[in-house]
Order: sequence, then structure tokens, then C-alpha cells
Amino acid sequence: MPGPIPVIETRGSPYEVGRRIGVAARDAIHDMHRQALSEYGERWETLLQESRPFQEKTQIHLPKVMLELQGCATGAEIPFDDLFLLGVEELLYDEVRSSGDPARAPDLNLATERGKGCSDLAAAPPATRDGHIWLAHNNDLGISAADQLFVTRFRVDGEPEILGVTVGGIFISVGMNSAGLGLTGNQLNANDSRIGVPRLYIVRDILVQTDLDRALASALLPERASSYNNIISSGDGRIVNVEGSAGAVALTWSSETGGVVAHTNHYLDPEMLVFEADPENIAMSASRCARALDYARKYHGVIDFEICQRFVRDHVYAPWSVCKHAGQSVTVFSTLIDLTTRQMWLARGNPCVNDFELYSC
Ligand SMILES: [Zn+2]
Repeated sequence: MPGPIPVIETRGSPYEVGRRIGVAARDAIHDMHRQALSEYGERWETLLQESRPFQEKTQIHLPKVMLELQGCATGAEIPFDDLFLLGVEELLYDEVRSSGDPARAPDLNLATERGKGCSDLAAAPPATRDGHIWLAHNNDLGISAADQLFVTRFRVDGEPEILGVTVGGIFISVGMNSAGLGLTGNQLNANDSRIGVPRLYIVRDILVQTDLDRALASALLPERASSYNNIISSGDGRIVNVEGSAGAVALTWSSETGGVVAHTNHYLDPEMLVFEADPENIAMSASRCARALDYARKYHGVIDFEICQRFVRDHVYAPWSVCKHAGQSVTVFSTLIDLTTRQMWLARGNPCVNDFELYSC
């Protein structure tokens, strides 16, 4: 598992970019597909049926993303419907359920097991030592995802270049673009998820935008199926935390919080607490959030590479620590981004034992 994350280089139309990704990440995509078929068994066919209206919404609102996915399916040689469904977390995590079908009753253990974890600290002036924008993000997933990671350079004709950390080459976790936008953030478990444009595909659209206002509008697409907690940062010195659900959102600007945003995997805004799908089960997220807030307070004004690196390697409250080694999800990669200089450092696996490699766009 350790060692640098492989880079996929692309260029061309959305379809061609997708096709190149599919060719380069074919083995990883087939692994993901096999795992899903094994995990979901006979339910996979039902989920494919249920994903059709999500496809229709995505086709209407994000046609370029659909072209890229079609190219990827062709390049990877897997059915398009299957690839599309691999990115519909709203169905895979049982958030959007068929009504009246007892076979599809929520399974709390499965939902917990599949849930992603992420810990974020994002800092803008006056919180940073050098006046830069610093983003620190640990991504916690099932251990098998560590072998499916790529750094994908999306170079679609006429669009900003995106440097994205992806699962399977195509599904973006975090990234930045040549227009100076950064996107990090966290999985949330909301109770109002619905048929719409899947949140994972909205991430792709956020990162193609040319400024923060457009990126925010993309994150708030009214037809979204649900939302991550998207932390959108701009090289001009602004960060906005977009704590969303399908139908609601709370925005927090770094200018309102002394420059720092800290977030993990549960709702924080009082207005959003009502959307928490599993309020009994947020302790593992709350411990990591407490540490992020500790760093935000303790290091206000001096946040830089060293502080961000210390944060992502933090083991306080282990096993539910920021650098996570135990449980269903573990830290599979860690990212430190200096958005001002558009440099991204990445460590595969736990950042306390693996070195950071530098990438830029
Ligand atoms: Zn560690």
C-alpha cells in the first residue's frame, strides 16, 4: 500500500478525458465493481434500476460529467450503468430508500460500515503564519480503497486544469484547480437525501468552476440528491464551509471565524442538526472535530505546513483520532494544500508513518 499515489494524465474533450481515465484505472475500477457486486449481491440489479432517475437528473444538469463517465466506462470496459451507480452514494449507503419494501429496510451496521470519515482544518488569513490558504484533510475509508487511489490531472479543453485525488481515477475526493479553487470536505449523513444529482458528481462540477461564487452556486444546485460538507477555498483568501443536505444549507465564511474552518462528519450548525440521520452515532466524528477545533484555537495566526502536518498526524482520542488506524474506516490518504502556491502534498496511508509527496498544478 505505501508509496506514491500513481498519476493519471488526461487531455481533450470530456469523453476523451474520461476514456483515458478508464484505460489508466481499469484494474482499480474493476476491483471496485467486483467488490460492489459481491457486497450487494442480488440487490445490485435493483439499485441499477433505482439509479436511472439519478442519471436523468445528472444528464440534464451536468451533461459534461455524464460524457466523462461514458468515456470512462468505455475505457475501463465496464457497463456505464454500473460505473454510474458506483458514484451514487445516496443509494449505496441506503439513504434514499424504496418505500414499503421491507427488504430495503435500513441496516444501521451496513450504513455505519460504509460511512466515510474525513477530518478537515482549513485556514485563511489572519489564521495562517504566511498569509497563505492552508488546507489539511485526512480521508478515512475502507482499507481496500488505499489500493484504488490515483492523482488525476483532468485537462478538459477550455476548462481549468484540475488536480484531484480520486478513487478509481474518476471519483474525486479532494482537489484544486488552476483557477485557484480548492475543494476539501466531509461526508455527512442526512435524512433528506432524495433522487437528484448525486453529491459525488457535483464535486466534479464544483472543481471545474473559475471562481468561488460559481463554485458555491454549483455546490448549491437545487436539484442535488444530497450534499457533502463542502469546504470551498479560493486563492483570493476566502474559504466557505458549505454544510449542506438535499434541501438545506448553512454557510460559514472564514471571515466570520477568524480565518479558520474545522469540520468532520456531523452537522454543526444549529439549523442543520435536524438533518442528522444518525445523531446517536456521531461520537467518532465529534472526537476528531474537537481536535480540529483545538488546533484552530491553539495555532491561530501561525498555521502553516508544519501545523497542518502535525494536525493530520494527531493521535489524541485514539482510536477515534484524526490520524485513524482502527475501525471500519482508516486514514487511506492525507492531503496538505497550500492553495496560494497551488501545491499539494499527499501521503498514502496513515500520514504518521508515510511520507508526503508534492504535486502541483
Ligand atoms: Zn497515525
